[in-house]
Amino acid sequence: MVSSRTKVLIVGGGFGGLFCARRLGKVDVDVVLLDRAACHVFQPLLYQCATGTLSIGQISRSLREELARHTNVTTLLGEAIDLDTDARVLTARRPDETTFTLDYDVLVVAVGMRQAYFGNDEFARWAPGMKTLDDALGIRRRLFGAFEMAETLPPGPERDSWLTFAIAGGGPTGVELAGQIREMATRALAHEFHSIEPEDARVLLFDGGSCVLSSFAPSLTDKATLALEQLGVELHMGVHVTDVRQDGVTVTPKNGGPAEDHPARTVLWTAGVEAVPFARRLAEVTGAPADRAGRIAVEPDLSVPGHPEIFVIGDLVGRDQLPGVAENAMQGGLHAAASIRRELAGKPRRPFRYRDLGSAAYISRGHALLQAGPVRLAGFLGWLGWGFIHIAFLTGVENRISTVATWLATIARARRTDRTFILGGTTSPEHPYTWLKTFHPNMLPVAQAPVDQQP
Ligand SMILES: Cc1cc2nc3c(=O)[nH]c(=O)nc-3n(C[C@H](O)[C@H](O)[C@H](O)COP(=O)(O)OP(=O)(O)OC[C@H]3O[C@@H](n4cnc5c(N)ncnc54)[C@H](O)[C@@H]3O)c2cc1C
Repeated sequence: MVSSRTKVLIVGGGFGGLFCARRLGKVDVDVVLLDRAACHVFQPLLYQCATGTLSIGQISRSLREELARHTNVTTLLGEAIDLDTDARVLTARRPDETTFTLDYDVLVVAVGMRQAYFGNDEFARWAPGMKTLDDALGIRRRLFGAFEMAETLPPGPERDSWLTFAIAGGGPTGVELAGQIREMATRALAHEFHSIEPEDARVLLFDGGSCVLSSFAPSLTDKATLALEQLGVELHMGVHVTDVRQDGVTVTPKNGGPAEDHPARTVLWTAGVEAVPFARRLAEVTGAPADRAGRIAVEPDLSVPGHPEIFVIGDLVGRDQLPGVAENAMQGGLHAAASIRRELAGKPRRPFRYRDLGSAAYISRGHALLQAGPVRLAGFLGWLGWGFIHIAFLTGVENRISTVATWLATIARARRTDRTFILGGTTSPEHPYTWLKTFHPNMLPVAQAPVDQQP
């Protein structure tokens, strides 16, 4: 039987999409939540997964399981690729490349942003970003794999470059990764190797600004800078990473001066974001204005101009300088759901008002920044506040309990319990990650060589 209820299609099960779907549970509408990954990922803790503290299971949750109690919500696996706004039909792609369509009365687009390389997409091959669970596991392999590679090499420049880690971007993600790599090297790995001294690992952090964590108050960024330097992170401010190769990076001073090469076999990219292809397509078919990164300029109620039936929420919103943070996405999801409920009740929509509840950034064990209104915390108090906030917003009670238990064990014993990395299916040409592809793509047999290198 065909339902006459309003059909709400939510694309993306991140913070925005999940909060919207939850709020519409038990409302008199039919909801479909479409996500290309089928699970909600708690992105703020991806770096702990990449550096071996937490497992992917602790920072993610199946959307199907999470929403099972809402009988009016269906979750589907698929990537949105096209939209017909006249017919109100969205086309999605399954993992096997076949497609299917979904019709809607109301569309909520919550697809977030992806890593941007500012026109240098070829950098991605050597410098992965960190947005997904795949990224986190790929980075984990590169980090722990680099120490293993170094252990087998004689002292010299080749070994040194395996023990050098370059990070582009001094925002929260770059800082968190830099701190964690040094902490890994000086604590968890310190006494496990025979040929190398993991403490010798160098971590180079590059950023075009004058300081790290520039979105925080100067008093806090000064403390963060000091904590990073004490940890042994080498800060290179005022430079842009202008080339990334298999064996290192080139950086160019922002204000002129000669470029410098830095040998490093592990390069990580956290320097910028851009819209995913579906968001670009949405802007194209609706004619909605978008900024350079592809964020969509929405109306005050978060709807697309000329399309009150389409909401855009979360990181993809390009309005009023709304920040790309989880809180904005969660509030946007609740707002879209409230607008739908108000319309069902015959009431007019309200404009979206973002309430800034503050931000936090982890530096190292015992050090974090917390900024909320007039409150400015750093060091141990900031760290406690940071931990409390992250646990409060982690999805799933089991995840919260096991994460707290893992953190306590990590603090007590300096160990990282999720260091396992897999090499990928070396017999499967389409597998994205193999040992050879990660470290020696030029040595791949033809069948496994990247497409652009095949004869
Ligand atoms: C490493 C990292 C650390 C961060 N740390 C913090 C922090 O400490 N504090 C903070 O407030 N914020 C932090 N953020 C930012 C925060 O995670 C984002 O602001 C938030 O996730 C945005 O929510 P969203 O719903 O807009 O998008 P996302 O949470 O990114 O969700 C987008 C969803 O859409 C899906 N998707 C994308 N394209 C398609 C498609 N075409 N079809 C179907 N599904 C699609 C994705 O699979 C994903 O599930 C961090 C982000 C990262 C990457």
